[in-house]
Amino acid sequence: MSQEMTFASLNLAAPLLRAITDAGYTQPTPVQAQAIPLVLAGGDLLAGAQTGTGKTAGFTLPILHRLSEKPAANPRPGKPRCLILTPTRELAAQVEESVQTYGKYLPFKSMVMFGGVNVNPQIKALRGQVDILVATPGRLLDHVGQKTLDLSGVEILVLDEADRMLDMGFIRDIRKILAVLPKQRQNLLFSATFSDEIKTLADGLLHNPGFVEVARRNTTSELVTQSVHMIPQKLKSHLLAHLIKHNDWKQVLVFTRTKHGANRLAEKLAADGIPAAAIHGNKSQSARTKALAEFKDGTLPVLVATSIAARGLDIDMLPHVVNFELPNVPEDYVHRIGRTGRAGSNGAAISLVDNEEALHLKNIERLIKMQIPRITIDSFVAPTNLPAEAPRPPRPQHGQKRHSNTTGAAHRNQTPRDGQGQKSRQPRQPAARNPQQRDQPIRTSQPSAKPRPPQNPPADQQHLSEAARHQAMPQPALFSPKPGARRGR
Ligand code: AMP
Repeated sequence: MSQEMTFASLNLAAPLLRAITDAGYTQPTPVQAQAIPLVLAGGDLLAGAQTGTGKTAGFTLPILHRLSEKPAANPRPGKPRCLILTPTRELAAQVEESVQTYGKYLPFKSMVMFGGVNVNPQIKALRGQVDILVATPGRLLDHVGQKTLDLSGVEILVLDEADRMLDMGFIRDIRKILAVLPKQRQNLLFSATFSDEIKTLADGLLHNPGFVEVARRNTTSELVTQSVHMIPQKLKSHLLAHLIKHNDWKQVLVFTRTKHGANRLAEKLAADGIPAAAIHGNKSQSARTKALAEFKDGTLPVLVATSIAARGLDIDMLPHVVNFELPNVPEDYVHRIGRTGRAGSNGAAISLVDNEEALHLKNIERLIKMQIPRITIDSFVAPTNLPAEAPRPPRPQHGQKRHSNTTGAAHRNQTPRDGQGQKSRQPRQPAARNPQQRDQPIRTSQPSAKPRPPQNPPADQQHLSEAARHQAMPQPALFSPKPGARRGR
């Protein structure tokens, strides 16, 4: 990108340029410089960009511009012109905030829609004008099924963090959504990585797409200082408390491998006088929103999260990220430490690594093609007389699932993606779900050698009548037919 590139030179409409100036941006980021002209030209787009690169404005700005160029064909309440799908509630909320920020001088109405919250306010909002809808797939399908939402006017579709949506098992939901969209539309697919599954999705979805890639896959930002502390598991919480207190850290995002581990660590830190909260899929939406808001505004210094919960969180200038446990999947390390060193600020990513995790560390270092410096903390004195820890069950290998058991260790019954994700080919657990967890992927607690087809409809449709399901959810072929050539522009 040339140093002289400005937003004005991208030919964005004046109300957008005013909003950009208000946001304090002086120059487009590389993904914006490349993606904005392609989206403005009306073509489909495949973009390799991680959170932190400015990708949200990269698609939001040109979408707003395009929508402002012409009125809706047949406007009706609850009939959006643009649909943005995200994997998590937090990301959906953030993206919709960006839509509001950049669209504040335009007459469009945006709406965010996700599960885990009362559906009635959403139904009420859908009785009014909604031009841009940002949604997680599950709750969106609920509305489609209940006919409270009309997707027949969607001109532009965005799949944001598509790789994570696939990891979380949303592929079937995405297919169902594609089946009810108009065939003629512009499709934008953003993904941090390009697995074979993403390529298959892109092949079926995108028509002659432009391609943008801003950060090479699996590279870590140079703005992040990485270090590793080799330490036994049972001492990790003590070392973490020491690091936070000794260095007077004010804002630390800590990753644990499991939801249970996140809860335990937050409790231990709090008991040590360090205010901390856990954020993961088992927490209510209001608890998650509250913890995130307090962490963002600086009142809560420590947020303990699982990878999925933290995915896509945009917290300005986050100074410290701690891997309390290394992720099983090496790519998740890159995503995790991507929470810091963002938008030009420096950050530190510290990993606490037990000998048992040595192989994971090796795999991560192979992926990022560098050795992470090992560091010892001379000021840390390990407490003595710690109670013996119960032996930990072995971790699943990358790509394997752990079998559950009936003991307390079931808490550790996690799929390879930090216990929250699920590969798309895994059949969904048909058991009833707490509606509050509506948009969380479902875990398979008792994987068998051969995946069995689900006996019941997907949990996200269980509350719908059979007829409603049939009407609402046509089953398309798996992306083989192109959803349609994009509109000629
Ligand atoms: P994103 O990758 O979309 O999550 O954006 C990461 C952060 O970069 C957000 O806090 C944005 O507000 C910020 N940002 C986006 N575009 C720019 C820009 N052109 N200049 C400075 N900051 C930006």
